[in-house]
Amino acid sequence: MPHLSSQRITPETPSAPETDSKRPLLNSSLGYTLLQPLVWLTVLSAAFIAPVPAQNDFSARFEEIKKSATDEQLYRFLYDLPKGGDLHNHQDGAVWPEWWYQVATDPVKTHGDAFYTRTKILDSKNSPIMYYNTIPKWRYDRLPEASKAEYEPLANLDAPTKAKWLASLWLGDPGDGREKFFEQIWPRIFGMLNSPYVTIELLVENMKRFGAEGVRYIETQNLVFGLGAPTEFHDKDGNAISVDQMADLYRERLRQPDAIAAGVTVRFQAVVLRFTPTAEQGVEDAYAFVDRHRDLWVGINMAGREDNEKGYPGRFLSVYRKMMGKYPAISLSIHAGESDEPNHHVRDTLFLGAQRIGHGSTSFPILRPWKPCARTRTWLR
Ligand SMILES: [Zn+2]
Repeated sequence: MPHLSSQRITPETPSAPETDSKRPLLNSSLGYTLLQPLVWLTVLSAAFIAPVPAQNDFSARFEEIKKSATDEQLYRFLYDLPKGGDLHNHQDGAVWPEWWYQVATDPVKTHGDAFYTRTKILDSKNSPIMYYNTIPKWRYDRLPEASKAEYEPLANLDAPTKAKWLASLWLGDPGDGREKFFEQIWPRIFGMLNSPYVTIELLVENMKRFGAEGVRYIETQNLVFGLGAPTEFHDKDGNAISVDQMADLYRERLRQPDAIAAGVTVRFQAVVLRFTPTAEQGVEDAYAFVDRHRDLWVGINMAGREDNEKGYPGRFLSVYRKMMGKYPAISLSIHAGESDEPNHHVRDTLFLGAQRIGHGSTSFPILRPWKPCARTRTWLR
């Protein structure tokens, strides 16, 4: 089988087989169940952009390859095979700990920003009470002196401390689950992902890895709405960066040669954090934002802990109806069915107008959501 490549797999490739039980922070989801491997959808008709028609029937040759290839050859073949895309991707959650460290400690990539991480707990009143909470320098500079003593520059960590910092962003230890994922890991990285240059640079890093695996399209979730604050991004001096400025920064970075060379088309979904008191306003803000930036943002998502009942789907029925009447069509891809207990969230989310359901896994035995999903041609991802 001379055309089966034996090249192109590197040790840092995310899709390479893992040798232990640990998984990256998250490959494409917002919950423990999201720690499953990425689901590669090879049918672009599910994307919110136009599909590409198949040109040749490769099925006979593929059957022959499946029968005759060794496991190693088959793995490398599948690795190199062009893939449609990843339609359920959380931009900042799809980053491996090593990448966070590399980018956040590279002053060229951070545009001069630097980060500090909490390596000591001297005062339990300093919240959150957690090691390896990482903050930008401008926030560190505003801390009281006593609090500064708890932090070290991220770039200066000794090897054992760096290893602990990296380990703090992994799930996989016994007992790990939603609590650690939502309440520890995300807060640890907020200070880095709120740097526009770090978060965008990490997207490009991901594009390069996706491209190496033959992935052609990523539809990733970014820019969180519903927090009640006008912006969450800041430059190295602490100046606020608006979401519209962020859109321009994304455009500018995606035009750079290395991003283009990745060979991956990227589109975005704006995310509404569903359980906050201002989530309805977040839906309105997300609609207005996506409408202003339809060249790159192709849909709206709602995410956040589904075991927080304040974010139940029915809460948003009126605001989605209002927005659908106000704006030309904007696609909806909404998380549902991620709770421990079976409930009506998948069905109710379909009523909101969702064309895709994120996860939809825990409700299957009772709700059989594929039936209404099939009727409405909704994708479960
Ligand atoms: Zn998700």
